[in-house]
Amino acid sequence: MLKMALLGNPNCGKTTLFNALTGSTAHVGNWPGVTVDKRSGTYKGSEGDIEIVDLPGIYSLSPYSPEEVVARNFIIDEKPDCVINIIDATNLERNLYLTTQIMEIETPIICALNFKDALLKSGDSIDTVLLEKRLGVPVVEISALKSDGIKELMDKAVICSKKRRNASTLLAEGALGHIINDIEIAMKYKGVDNPLYHAIRLVENDEIEIKMHKDELAMVNEYKKDFKDEVFGNDFEALVADARYDKIESEYSVTLKRKEKHVSGKLTRSDKIDKVLTHKIWAIPVFLLIMFLIFHFTFSEDLFFLGALGIIPESFDVPVIGTGGINSVPVMLMNLVDMLCESISGGVTTLLGEGTWYQSLIVDGIFAGVFSVLTFLPQILFLFLFLSILEDTGYMARVAFIWDKLFKKLGMSGKAFLPLLMCFGCAVPGMMATKALENEKERRIAIMVAPFFSCGAKLPIWTAFAMHLFGGNATEFVIYGIYILGIVIAVLTSFILKKFFFKGELPPFIMELPTYHMPRFYNLMLRLWEKMKHFLIKASTIIASSTIVIWFLSNFSFAFWTGMVDSSESMLSMIGRVLRWLFVPAGFGMSADYGWMCVVGSFTGLIAKEMVVSTMEVLTAEAGILGVVTAIGWQATFAFMAFNLLSIPCMAAVAAAAGEFGSKKKLFGAIGFWLATSYVVSVAVYWCCTIWWLALVLAVIVTVTVILLKMRKRKIKKEVEIV
Ligand code: GDP
Ligand code: MG
Repeated sequence: MLKMALLGNPNCGKTTLFNALTGSTAHVGNWPGVTVDKRSGTYKGSEGDIEIVDLPGIYSLSPYSPEEVVARNFIIDEKPDCVINIIDATNLERNLYLTTQIMEIETPIICALNFKDALLKSGDSIDTVLLEKRLGVPVVEISALKSDGIKELMDKAVICSKKRRNASTLLAEGALGHIINDIEIAMKYKGVDNPLYHAIRLVENDEIEIKMHKDELAMVNEYKKDFKDEVFGNDFEALVADARYDKIESEYSVTLKRKEKHVSGKLTRSDKIDKVLTHKIWAIPVFLLIMFLIFHFTFSEDLFFLGALGIIPESFDVPVIGTGGINSVPVMLMNLVDMLCESISGGVTTLLGEGTWYQSLIVDGIFAGVFSVLTFLPQILFLFLFLSILEDTGYMARVAFIWDKLFKKLGMSGKAFLPLLMCFGCAVPGMMATKALENEKERRIAIMVAPFFSCGAKLPIWTAFAMHLFGGNATEFVIYGIYILGIVIAVLTSFILKKFFFKGELPPFIMELPTYHMPRFYNLMLRLWEKMKHFLIKASTIIASSTIVIWFLSNFSFAFWTGMVDSSESMLSMIGRVLRWLFVPAGFGMSADYGWMCVVGSFTGLIAKEMVVSTMEVLTAEAGILGVVTAIGWQATFAFMAFNLLSIPCMAAVAAAAGEFGSKKKLFGAIGFWLATSYVVSVAVYWCCTIWWLALVLAVIVTVTVILLKMRKRKIKKEVEIV
């Protein structure tokens, strides 16, 4: 079977073409990072089946993002019979940049000029015959959306795949061409596959090539020693890129015939919307408002503020609808799921008989654990739905753009903002979404601080404890404070990580802003379905199995063959009583009666954060969380919250991080980082609350020192300038 790969810039229509070719329902997305892993399907052609692979969208073959590496490795290593290079015809020059790079690989190529319909509409036209002649590869105009020209494309691709193609480059002239040629010959002599491609990448200082070709690198460096360009000096990456663009302009731009010069001053509808949404001053307030509305419609228990305004009395209590206010739809659904779960548990208990070990295992163990997570599914799905709508309309791309400036100061680009935003819902999709970040270091930082953004599963902890603090008069302020603490710690630690551990420059932020359009219902539903499937699989595997372990540890002593015991004599309690000493500095380990429960609660929270409260409720029996708070005091309660906010998130998030890092060493680094941060901060919180005047004095000293240092630095700089 022939194998063909679809390659092109983000948003050039690869997935649309893929779907048209294979009849598949692959996810069609609108911002980078949606098609990250390659996927494949079958095209039924007149001459037999053809395997079609949809590669991630990329702007170039540089090694900056995982997507680029996936795509280039595929073409080099798996050697598809033909590469179908999709080009957004309404953006010819920029799209051809990638084309000039893949032409340097010895692989059959065919160019598909997509967006034929849009081009026609605009009145512009492309001279495909001339373009074909200049590029030296077949060019076919298509419209993936309207399934126009697709048969012709595939027929020509089949012919193309049967012919050998020699690699060619635009960079054959001048001193640059000379270096490339010499390196190519050296590589060919050594028997390297695709010598031209590797030679050019090496000259461009490509990290991956540098590691692969040490001998030739020495040659390149020898050349570079006495080479100096007037504009770019010795920056070969910029030099090569500039040469490419020059050539594209002189050779290919002439094939594009514009109907008329775009009338300047005339704004499209998208431009008009952008005037408000990306406005210098209004962009951020508008964004904050939109986010507030999303969170409000997802989590609110008093949707129309009727309770807060006193219109609905506190005694208002309707099952599912709400208590003292009308719930948002997801919260109502949560209530429904909760009721359903309770009746299932009740039914199963009656069926199995209360007090038997298997009833305890199934109901108190597996059901309690799995259901406590399942009840959050409606909120998670709604939050995801709202975010998907923002993404589909094209607004998310703008958000990244708006926040880029601020984030750059912290060592991240605006793109990191989106994944981190998702972490307020759940760190797992947030960590997965970091795939869209080009820079590996930036990605690592984002994954490491992701858990600090308080996720939905942690909310029960904050509510359960805040309710019992200060007579219950400050619940929302305590919860608000916890969220802020998480953000502040994330900002501080990412700054430290960037400064001391992951130094390096950020790649330039290239991202086009797609035009706004209505989201498609089918797409949204497909994505929600995928999300739900993922969640249900997680609940029925990781969470179900870990609850069995917790159940066993909290119902049996080390002499487990003697039968079930009270939780205070269980293995878990024994372990907790030893580990409690570790948390004496953070306050909550001090209490002999309740300290171990806090430790065990935090410990089970490592599996899933929902389990912190449910575990502690079981362990404390009648005293409840109120008993714990009274025993350890508000200072230690704050420290306990801080610890749970910042420590290792949950098994699912650890698994997600492991998948994203792809290396055990990096994963252990992150786990160590989470443990260290949570411990240090919780101890600091405890002591700051206990001796707050000392904390105040310290804060003043630190601030004054920082200001003095800054002033001195500035003075030195000035003196240098004067000299
Ligand atoms: P990908 O990022 O390369 O996979 O691009 P997608 O397939 O997700 O397409 C990006 C956007 O371009 C979607 O909104 C498509 O509907 C749209 N699109 C794709 N092909 C065409 C086309 O031929 N004509 C028009 N007008 N729109 C298209
Ligand atoms: Mg795609």
